[in-house]
Parts: sequence; C-alpha cells; structure tokens
Amino acid sequence: MNSHFQPACSTPERPQESPTTSIDQAVPSRPAERIHSWGRYPRVTHRHVHKPAWNDQIPDILKTAAPGSLLPFGLGRSYGDSCLNGDRDLVGCRRLNRILAFDESTGVVRCESGVSLREILEVFLPKGWFLPVTPGTSFVTVGGAIANDVHGKNHHRAGTFGDHVRQIALHRSDYDLVFCSPSENPEMFRASIGGLGLTGVIAWADFQLKRVDGPWIDSETIPFRSLKAFLDLSHESNDRFEYTVAWLDCFSGKNVRGIFFRGNHAANCRRKLRRKLSPKLSFELPDWILSRWSIEAFNAVYYAANSIKKRTAVTRHDTFFYPLDSIRQWNLLYGKQGFLQYQCVVPETNLEAFEELLDRIARSGMGSFLGVLKQFGAAPPAGILSFPRPGLTIALDFAMRGERTLKLMRSLDEVVQQSGGALYPAKDARMSPELFEISFPHWRDLVPYIDPKISSSFWRRVTGSC
Ligand SMILES: Cc1cc2nc3c(=O)[nH]c(=O)nc-3n(C[C@H](O)[C@H](O)[C@H](O)COP(=O)(O)OP(=O)(O)OC[C@H]3O[C@@H](n4cnc5c(N)ncnc54)[C@H](O)[C@@H]3O)c2cc1C
Repeated sequence: MNSHFQPACSTPERPQESPTTSIDQAVPSRPAERIHSWGRYPRVTHRHVHKPAWNDQIPDILKTAAPGSLLPFGLGRSYGDSCLNGDRDLVGCRRLNRILAFDESTGVVRCESGVSLREILEVFLPKGWFLPVTPGTSFVTVGGAIANDVHGKNHHRAGTFGDHVRQIALHRSDYDLVFCSPSENPEMFRASIGGLGLTGVIAWADFQLKRVDGPWIDSETIPFRSLKAFLDLSHESNDRFEYTVAWLDCFSGKNVRGIFFRGNHAANCRRKLRRKLSPKLSFELPDWILSRWSIEAFNAVYYAANSIKKRTAVTRHDTFFYPLDSIRQWNLLYGKQGFLQYQCVVPETNLEAFEELLDRIARSGMGSFLGVLKQFGAAPPAGILSFPRPGLTIALDFAMRGERTLKLMRSLDEVVQQSGGALYPAKDARMSPELFEISFPHWRDLVPYIDPKISSSFWRRVTGSC
C-alpha cells in the first residue's frame, strides 16, 4: 500500500437499466487528428481518444493502458500542450456530465468531472447560486478547472477554484477509486489540485457554490494611463469590489494605457435575463487579416471607446465574465497556424521588469487584441503546481508567425526569469525546462503522485520524462 493515500471503498455505478456499452462503442471516437488545444499550436496527433460515457468504464481503460500512455481531456480550453498527449491516447471526459447531488443548506454541489462551468451556471444561477471562482470562459469542465487550479477576476478575494473544492474521487490505475479531501488523503488532494491531469482521472468533485441575488453585475469601467494608476486602482478596489481586471493596450509600451473593470454581484436587480445568441466562426480566417495595423487599430478604437470617462452599468454576468464566449470558436480568427498565449506573473516589487515586458512587446510590433492585466492576491497556493502567486499577471495572445513569434516569447522569458516570475502551464506551448524549474521549483514534489499510466506532451517537454 502506497503510504501517500488511502483508496476509497466504493465505486459509483451506472444505473442497472442503462444499456451496457463497451468503452468506445457508445459514441465513435472523433478522428484523433481533430483534437487540438485552444491555441491550435502545437499540432500533434493522438493514437486514440477514449470516450467513456460512465465512470465505471474508466478503471478498464486505465488498467489495460501502457505506462505513460493516457491523459484526461476536458474541453480543450488550455492553449498549448498541457491537455495534449502526442502520439499517445486521451481519455475524453466530457461525456461524464452528470450533476449528482446538491446540498441546498450548504451550497455544495457534487458533479462528474466532465460537467462544464456553463452547465453549472445554467442549472444553479436561476436558483441563486454562482461559481466560487470562474476563468474567462465558461466552456471549461470541472475536471479541467481543478487540474489547472484556475483563477478568475476574484483571485484577490477568493483564491483559486481549488480553494473551493471539498472532495474529489480519483480513478487511478494502481488503486480503485481514491477519495481525496483536505482531511482524507490530503497529499493526493493537494497534488491533484493544479496537478495537470497527471495524478489520475477525476471521476467527480464536490465544490462550494456561492449565494448571489441574480445574474447581474454592478460594474464600473475606468480608463488609466500608467502602471502606477493601474496599481492604485487595483489597491483601492480590492476591499470594495469582488471582481477586478484590466484590459491593456499592448502597443502602449512603457506609456501604459488601459481600461480597468471592477464589479460586484448586483443586489435586488429584477431585470429579466434574455437568452443571448452566440454566432460561431466556422472557418479559419486568412493570416493577413491579423496584421500589426489591424490589431493596433482595434486597440486604439477599443481604448477610445472606453476611455471617455468612468462609467457605471448593470451588466449581464456573461458579458462581464465571458466576453469572448459570445463568438464560438473565435480561436479560428488566428488562421491556420494558430496562436500562442503568453501568461506570466511578475512580483509586484519588480515593476521595472513588468515595464520592460510591455516595452519589448510594443517594440516587437507583434500586438495582441487581448491584453489582460490583474493583480493577484496573497492566497497561499491550493496545489503543488498552482500558478497564481502575489504579483501582476498579464495574458496576451500572439498569432503564430513561426520563429518571429517564438523569438519574442524567448525575449519575454528572459525578463520573467530574471524577475523571479513564472509562466502559466495552462497557457503554455513552448517554455523551456529551465523556465519551468524557475516557475515551479517544487515540481518534483508532484512526481510520487503521478499515475504511472498518465503523461502529457507538456510534462515530457518540461521535465524530460518519457
Ligand atoms: C477564452 C479563455 C479564457 C480563459 N481564462 C482563464 C482565466 O481567466 N483563468 C485561468 O486560470 N484559466 C483561463 N483559461 C484557461 C482554462 O480555464 C484552463 O485551461 C482550463 O483548465 C481548461 O479546462 P478544460 O475543461 O478545457 O480542460 P482541458 O484544457 O481539456 O485540460 C486541462 C487539464 O485538465 C486535465 N483534465 C481534464 N479533465 C480531467 C479529469 N476529468 N481528471 C483529471 N484531469 C483532467 C487535463 O489532463 C489537462 O491537464 C482560459 C481559456 C480560454 C480559452
């Protein structure tokens, strides 16, 4: 018996009346080559994608797999290769999408790991419950949110998603279902929060929802014209506003300019929420559409439109939290070669490094529509590999233009590395083993908890494991 954790004594079963289907009979697997991460870079092929419809199919998948051959997969909203397993297999968890229980007295929900945050909101928001933490898209599974220990606009108040997880049940190839919580198998619990899917396949999770009055947000939009002004706004807002984030004009370099957004759940707003249509981009746009000039023009117009004065509004929750979800498959905008996101955190004591980053980006001429800036709070990390830590985090999307793009990113790496900062694995497709070591000096603590049948393209790349 491994000393790290105790196995659980029972396994959830599918109802007797359900038809029995073997692992891949239920729905034919999608052609493996169509499995991409959100940035559509790197392009790898998978040998096979398992698509279990029931949790009791997973033990067989794990037991019959070769060492290091599997990786759980959610909705593929990670940008790079942390959700990919090139030339090996994936376990698509999306069909494990049942909400199993809800305790109205505590707000704790139990659901299978393939349930999306969008589905949680669809069911629970009309009843007055909201997610404790949400990333910038609702198309994320509960399993993916745990495995990347995702953060949102309320990190300064609420920490990460993992801080609100009460228990998980984990399929392992070497044991039956393992229950993990802060009090039961706590080391395995801590390894699995932010564990990049490497510690096993999460069967289901219990997590805490929060009470809200309705789907509306009292929001404020405030232009700022320097990094100091951003920080002043952020410090001043942290106590009064649950949610804070900023958009940054990445062409502004050291003369920082951007728009600060802050908000709270609106109380007693009785407006009716109408269903919103989300158009879908169904083809890749040609590369020339995203030129320096089109992105620079977009940034200038966006800033001008929002900078006239401080504005207050009552905003729909989905517009406030998920503006990008309003166009489905917007990632095709970046064309055939895909794109990369660069998300780093830099200690707040090193603002010169942050300015240097912005300067290098502006000078490169390789701008981004999406420059997101946020001051992380001081919450201790929930998992061994949790990314958020005190400092300023910035996330920028860059169209993949080959060596030119990679060169810019390496130049940004130098600054992050020297500043004692870190890169976010969920967004990464190319960081070096050295930068991973600097970003996560304790990564070896995760190794004893990795399931021997599981590995990922990302993990092999940054640790040199096979
Ligand atoms: C528009 C957009 C905005 C975003 N904003 C934010 C943000 O604000 N903050 C933030 O933190 N992230 C953000 N992200 C990143 C996203 O939240 C994470 O990458 C998230 O983990 C993706 O979840 P997924 O279900 O798509 O999982 P995938 O991307 O498919 O997988 C992510 C990881 O979870 C593991 N995994 C999936 N299912 C399971 C399971 N059942 N058991 C064990 N492991 C599993 C995978 O192995 C992989 O390591 C954003 C992404 C997009 C596209």
